[in-house]
Amino acid sequence: MEGFYAPNTLERRNDPPHVKSADAEWLSVDLLDPLPAHRRVKPRVDLVLTVADVAVCRRPAIVPRRILSSDTIRAVVTAEAGFELCRICVREALLQRPLPADRTLRQLLADARTHRRARAQALAPRHAASTPSAIANTRLAVLPRYPSAPCGTSGSRRALLPRAVANEARHLASSQGLAVVGSSASSATTIFYSPDVLLRSSPRPAPPRVAPPPPTDPTYFDQLFATQRDPWDYTSDYEQTKYRQTLDLLPAAKPRRALELACAEGHFTVQLAPRVRELIATDVAATAVQRTRERCAAFPHISYQQLDLIYDPLPAGPFDLIVCSEVLYFAGSRANLEVVAQKIADALEPGGHVVLAHGNVHAEEPTQPGFDWDLPFGAKTIGEVFAATPELHLVRELRTPIYRIQLFQRRRPWLGKLLLTPPVRRSIPLPTQLPDHVARQIIWESSSRPASPATSPTRTAQLPILMYHRIADDGPEALARYRLDPQRFEQQITHLAAAGYRSATFEEWRAAREAKRPLPGKRIMLTFDDGCIDFYNTAWPVLQRHKFNAIVFLPTDEIGGVCRWDARYGPPASLMNWDQIRELREDGVEFGSHTATHAMLTGLTLEEMAREALRSRTAIEEQIGGPILSVAYPFGACDRIVESVFGACGYVFGVTCESRLCEIDDRLLALPRLEVSSDLDLDDFVELLAG
Ligand SMILES: [Zn+2]
Repeated sequence: MEGFYAPNTLERRNDPPHVKSADAEWLSVDLLDPLPAHRRVKPRVDLVLTVADVAVCRRPAIVPRRILSSDTIRAVVTAEAGFELCRICVREALLQRPLPADRTLRQLLADARTHRRARAQALAPRHAASTPSAIANTRLAVLPRYPSAPCGTSGSRRALLPRAVANEARHLASSQGLAVVGSSASSATTIFYSPDVLLRSSPRPAPPRVAPPPPTDPTYFDQLFATQRDPWDYTSDYEQTKYRQTLDLLPAAKPRRALELACAEGHFTVQLAPRVRELIATDVAATAVQRTRERCAAFPHISYQQLDLIYDPLPAGPFDLIVCSEVLYFAGSRANLEVVAQKIADALEPGGHVVLAHGNVHAEEPTQPGFDWDLPFGAKTIGEVFAATPELHLVRELRTPIYRIQLFQRRRPWLGKLLLTPPVRRSIPLPTQLPDHVARQIIWESSSRPASPATSPTRTAQLPILMYHRIADDGPEALARYRLDPQRFEQQITHLAAAGYRSATFEEWRAAREAKRPLPGKRIMLTFDDGCIDFYNTAWPVLQRHKFNAIVFLPTDEIGGVCRWDARYGPPASLMNWDQIRELREDGVEFGSHTATHAMLTGLTLEEMAREALRSRTAIEEQIGGPILSVAYPFGACDRIVESVFGACGYVFGVTCESRLCEIDDRLLALPRLEVSSDLDLDDFVELLAG
């Protein structure tokens, strides 16, 4: 791909034909073709990158002022597609092909594309192209890429599914907001999962409530507010206390003209309004601005504006107060942050104040407690950048173990630097109990909690994924191995907490794998197969008490029933019903598929296998929302074919019963687990964790 990073060699004025029109929701760019020069697009656009006609990835592109430049495309490629791009280049251009010395990689890829097109034309003339227009009105039903399918997994490869599962495939696609292209289910002869086709018929499903912090992508916030209310639980004691502390830090004199940046749904705005004479409330998401307007209807002195604080100019100043909380992490880089700090300083009148409230990010200060967020910086850098802005100086600061609130003032030009009073700093313990979803995001490597033993790693390169079934002390003798005594369970979980373990998620492990970097902290995953009622009654209260999360795998045809597959050994255990599952979901428990019928997948035909995959996933998503991306193969029965079919049905993670620690390069659809059987005492358990 020589020349790809050299901006001047590849651009041209005219857009190549494969770039869609300016009002499309997505743009497709093949990296073999010249990159399009600047062009106008919708502000919310997904960039689809292909190389030699093979999809590499699809990412929302940040398009400042709606002008998509080749630099933006390069940024997306570099940040998102790097490794998968290399893999595809090698696969398409080099593997099993001679390596002529006189041809470049680019030329070899061009040959591969020509060959691919010719082959497709020869094999299926009518279906040669997989573009949406070309496949319409054929007897081919094309299942487009699942929004959740990341690069480098089975979800990013093409696959054929048995036509008998057309109905299930269509059902799943529509529950994901995807349009299936081509024939109706009954007349389709082939179901083609084609991740390079991207069609959306309705907004994407809501992200889970306990989400990792948002990426630096303005469209994310629009989606977030459009799909759920109060996504960060602003009414909790924790957030309300932070609001009070922010207001307490403000100067006594009533500001004449105030500006709030990132007002979200107006929970703070409504408290700030009585304290100022005039207020402009802004947010990047139109939905958020509208909700603030509704919440603050009683205050005629507020005006509203949709505003991207990184890329847009601020409303005309000067202001004597600017509020900017829980948002500057998303500036993305220190350079962007400096620009924003300068904009804010410029918009303040001399003597005016800006107040900031932001969380500590653990990666930034590893010896301090902080949020385990995948963000480049937190309160520390934000404070430093504002303090380094020439016009501003820190007046007051309130520190808690996990966040800081800071008040800066714009200098009055006639006051020399020497006359500035030093800042008043106050540190206090956490004033409120943390809501569970907040507590789970925090790493406590400080004196406020018992320190982890000195030998414990602070990074996890080999992840223990524990496999539990029942937590109970009664049941058929033959199944004793799958039944752990509740006291033993409590002992194990207490040990994990004391040893400094914290829960990891599949998504965190995927990101670690992609980055080839161990997970921060001492991490573990706790999985429970079958969804027995004792998880609800016995296991979850213990896990909750120790702030662990869990992933429970459900056989969807049996919900509310019993473990029928165990019936021959004695009275089978009862399974949770959907109401209980929904309640646990509200508490933050994750769920995955354990197939529909608890089937031994390696004994099934492709068709039956695909049906198990599609039906169970759709059932859970319809009952509790999705996307559901993980599966535990019943009896641990899995092979490459099972993985491939589940990948084509939108699964990203699969867990087996192979007993070892998870390595960073294990295939995501075949992750090993450590079985916690009933005969393990605490010493055995500790040994098991060591692998
Ligand atoms: Zn099972």
